[in-house]
Amino acid sequence: MHITIDTNVCIGAGQCALVSPDVFTQDDDGFGTVVPGRENTEPGPLVREAARACPVQAITVTEATTPA
Ligand code: SF4
Repeated sequence: MHITIDTNVCIGAGQCALVSPDVFTQDDDGFGTVVPGRENTEPGPLVREAARACPVQAITVTEATTPA
């Protein structure tokens, strides 16, 4: 699975970092970003909740697995 944030859409609401701080954080400008190294993490319920909570739907959780 792969987690991405569309930085063109993100408004820096910070919901993702609030809901799932293990996987999401905020950059220096306050925009959401995936914690380095967690892009391909196995998303738990909190990641899905964070994606759902994002007010602008900037978070994409791709189900497809990538070859290791
Ligand atoms: S919740 Fe959405 S809008 Fe807010 S920081 Fe995260 S990705 Fe950006």
